[in-house]
Amino acid sequence: MPEAAKLAIREAQLKGPRLDGGYMVVNVGHDHPASNRAGCAPVHRLMAAEMFGMGVLPEEWCVHHEDEDKTNNEPSNLRVFASNSLHAHWHALLRRHRQTHCLHGHEYTADNTRIETRTRPTIHTARVCRACEREKQRRHNPRRRARRAAARMAPTTLRRTV
Ligand SMILES: [Zn+2]
Ligand SMILES: [Zn+2]
Repeated sequence: MPEAAKLAIREAQLKGPRLDGGYMVVNVGHDHPASNRAGCAPVHRLMAAEMFGMGVLPEEWCVHHEDEDKTNNEPSNLRVFASNSLHAHWHALLRRHRQTHCLHGHEYTADNTRIETRTRPTIHTARVCRACEREKQRRHNPRRRARRAAARMAPTTLRRTV
């Protein structure tokens, strides 16, 4: 654990955590490469840097708190993403996994769910609603499409013959 983080934890135990935007910060002094203008650095970023054996985390890397408690900076609670878009993608996945129904209101029961592996932007699994899939297939059914095309043609044909 970096010295600064140890200090922050000790300080938090004594006086309660020092927070900046909900994140625990610690005074690291202006010479520290991760310090802001006030000479402070967020503890979660110091901890994450330590996890990767770095002095400072690359600026574009994002540190996510698994339990959504911004003050829980235990390494097991931190997940690091190489960009903000990957971090946002993770939040989207979490939201989706919490949903019990598809966008069209069908429940994700075992029978109605197909698990699909996707590779973009990261490798992840997604649930696919079978009811929606069947509906889509029905809509794209070639016979149905031919019938609809014929229906569209009909008035034109009529006009031509009149
Ligand atoms: Zn997050
Ligand atoms: Zn559905």
